[in-house]
Amino acid sequence: MNQDGTHPEDNRAHQNVAVLGATGSIGTATIDVVTQLNRVDPDFRWHVSAASGHKNTPLLAELAGGLEHPPDRIVLSDHQSVEGLGPAEAQLRALGSKIEFGPDALVSAAGDKSVDVVVAAIVGRAGLESTMAAVEAGKRVALANKETLVVAGPVVSRCCEKSGAELLPVDSEHSAIFQCIQAADSKPKKLILTASGGPFRKWTREQMDAATPESALAHPTWQMGPKITIDSATMINKALEVIEARWLFGLPADAIEVVVHPQSIIHSMVEFEDSSVIAQLSPPDMRLPIQYALTYPRRLPCPSPDFDRTKPWDLTLEPADPERFPGLELGFEVAAAGGTAGAVLNAANEEAVGLFLAGKIRFTDIVRGCREVLENHSHESDPPLDRLLELDRWARQELRKRFGEA
Ligand code: NAD
Ligand code: MG
Repeated sequence: MNQDGTHPEDNRAHQNVAVLGATGSIGTATIDVVTQLNRVDPDFRWHVSAASGHKNTPLLAELAGGLEHPPDRIVLSDHQSVEGLGPAEAQLRALGSKIEFGPDALVSAAGDKSVDVVVAAIVGRAGLESTMAAVEAGKRVALANKETLVVAGPVVSRCCEKSGAELLPVDSEHSAIFQCIQAADSKPKKLILTASGGPFRKWTREQMDAATPESALAHPTWQMGPKITIDSATMINKALEVIEARWLFGLPADAIEVVVHPQSIIHSMVEFEDSSVIAQLSPPDMRLPIQYALTYPRRLPCPSPDFDRTKPWDLTLEPADPERFPGLELGFEVAAAGGTAGAVLNAANEEAVGLFLAGKIRFTDIVRGCREVLENHSHESDPPLDRLLELDRWARQELRKRFGEA
């Protein structure tokens, strides 16, 4: 190793990574992982060849400027996010990267011939088209954007089969399950997803009725973007993960379970035919599952911390409480129903989370609203993508109408 961290004889093959959603919690962690991989990977030289950042130009310029080589292309959502920004605009333009705008540019970056791995880290339905483009182009897709699978699981699975795309989970629970499955040459009987329980694990329904955005955003174990943090507080995140697991691993909803594990150290478990349970453990840090999705099947040193095993540590597991967290049940129902149910639940939830964060509805209205919209839609079992996107728009409007916000 040279003093500047570069490899002495750098004739390693290149891996070009498109980081879509680079300015978010998963995106910034990915950049950290890629930077460190360049120091420790004997086989590949890693390059962030594309990075997107919605409207956060200053952070994107800073992140891109900190890379060894600037990205070939940078994608922002609109011209207004760049023009007239002063120093941030100058910093961005000085990189010499091609700057592009809007959803079509995201799709084009995801499918670019030169890209080896796409990290799908845009939050919500906004990440669907670019994730689909990566799948259609047969890429390795490091999937953080679980919403794409929730909305269109069967469409994505069929597309993967056709294109040969590799869908590798970044979500820590699904990465854990994937790792457990690698460890045993046998079909899983049950997938046991762990849930931290979020900030309201011990709260009563009455307390949750009065919960503020600030209290819901204070997650005890994970630092994440605002949408997934609210989803963790309602446990809709776990509902979405049940649906994600159903499509990623091809097991029916009744082969999936959820247990509450407040320390977030056991990331999930798999039970096999002989009732043996294999678990994956590590301190709560997303850089490990992100790196595994990039380097699979190789394991390399990772910037995530090791356990401090000099102190006593507790691992507790407890059943989830469906009375206080009715959102969880929605995940099992939707995973069993398939078809249009995932698109409707996802859209209603995204809209409800937005209204809650804007102070327009109560915390407990989120799940109530989702259930009402879901029950008010007529289920179709094998919809094409266009129909799912139509229902996404319908469900958002329905949810808003219910709270007088249409
Ligand atoms: P975040 O809010 O921190 O970041 C979201 C990213 O998406 C940002 O780069 C933002 O600029 C971009 N973005 C937002 N709206 C956009 C739009 N309309 N068009 C284009 N880009 C847009 O979110 P996050 O916590 O990093 O989560 C990203 C995804 O990863 C989500 O699907 C989440 O469920 C999943 N995930 C996150 C974590 C975590 O620890 N943060 C863990 C597991 C899964
Ligand atoms: Mg998760």
